[in-house]
Amino acid sequence: MNKSDSEQLFKTAQNIIPGGVNSPVRAFGAVGGEPQFIDRAQGAYLWDVDNRRYIDYVGSWGPMILGHGDTKVLLAVQDQLHKGVSFGAPTELEVQLAQTLCDKLPYLDMVRLVSSGTEAVMSAIRAARGFTGRAKIIKFAGCYHGHSDGLLVAAGSGAATLGIPNSAGVTPSQVADTFVADFNDIDGTRTLIQQLNADLAAVIVEPLAGNMGLVEPQSRFLEMLREETQNSGAVLIFDEVMSGFRVSAGGYQKLCGITPDMVTLGKIIGGGLPVGAYGGRREIMEKVAPSGPVYQAGTLSGTPLAVTAGLATLNQLDDALYQRLENLGQRLESGLRNVLEEKNIPAQLHRVGSMWTLFFTAEPVTDYASAAKSDTARFGKYFHAMLERGIYLPPSQFESAFISAAHTEADIDETVNAAREALSD
Ligand code: PLP
Repeated sequence: MNKSDSEQLFKTAQNIIPGGVNSPVRAFGAVGGEPQFIDRAQGAYLWDVDNRRYIDYVGSWGPMILGHGDTKVLLAVQDQLHKGVSFGAPTELEVQLAQTLCDKLPYLDMVRLVSSGTEAVMSAIRAARGFTGRAKIIKFAGCYHGHSDGLLVAAGSGAATLGIPNSAGVTPSQVADTFVADFNDIDGTRTLIQQLNADLAAVIVEPLAGNMGLVEPQSRFLEMLREETQNSGAVLIFDEVMSGFRVSAGGYQKLCGITPDMVTLGKIIGGGLPVGAYGGRREIMEKVAPSGPVYQAGTLSGTPLAVTAGLATLNQLDDALYQRLENLGQRLESGLRNVLEEKNIPAQLHRVGSMWTLFFTAEPVTDYASAAKSDTARFGKYFHAMLERGIYLPPSQFESAFISAAHTEADIDETVNAAREALSD
């Protein structure tokens, strides 16, 4: 039998790209087997190079909230393509995107555009340190904030999947100012904030954690972070790279009602092209160069093509769209719950709007330690059984899946039926 095109490409890729992929979780390390190479996408579907079709719940890891190939985004990008892709000089488009972000997230006074979530978070931490004149930060186990050195400590997502929460090449001094607390641990975190007190520059959190699988904050956890950071004079940063514009037009901030000092954004705000952003209170953001002494720059920051895709995406995110995503999410959730009950499978199904994770564990999942108790071998079997049935899920237990507005009720029902078969053995 001839090798499939995906197999051949992976073989070639492994020789010239580390692990054959340009971002680790794509390599299927956590679930075994080899990744499909994708040829094209439209709406809710992906086609691999062997022309197999999949219902896509990865959505490029979050950005594709409208589905693939949205007409308005395509037309806007095509139009901009002819005007020029990058100038390295200010454009009106950047002002429009910054204004859109400040309008949609009213607690933002100022925002700076960058090219990835990693860059947004790294820069926000620098701004928080520059503003406070303090060094130490607190992050939470299982929360992923990109791959900058100081944040690769107890990190979720691919780092959790590969079992290397601390990366080789990150030196002890680079993480010496990073302290780790447990997500949802109110007393432990409060004590740590009070201990670090006047040395604490920032607390960074995914207010809705998506990188240990989807885990919601428990009652009072975010309130406590707000109160204690205010008391200690530290900057509270919500990392909404994943949840921003995913769970509501105001991000998770709008759902939880807690206002951070800064926010980091990415994914959806670039509509599938590389855009990140960080912003917050004016007095903090005015510290950023050239208005202030905190240096941060980027050749392609706010590049017109990417900003155009972001604007064309954000402009379509109205209440009706979020209602549609909620309806699809509810349909998927109730279908999957029926399957789990029918088959008597001990599992935790978490969903907020269009984000969801099925954890294979009988125990409640509230933090990284409880997420890590999941049966990852069982997840791997389920993942491959779904893939065989044309359902493309994130290839790791510790990731969130995403529904897009292009999914139909029929896609959701097909997914539930596939799960009924996939979970049969
Ligand atoms: N922060 C969060 C919450 C994320 O989910 C991610 C990526 O998944 C990042 C930061 C890093 O973003 P990027 O992959 O664009 O660098």
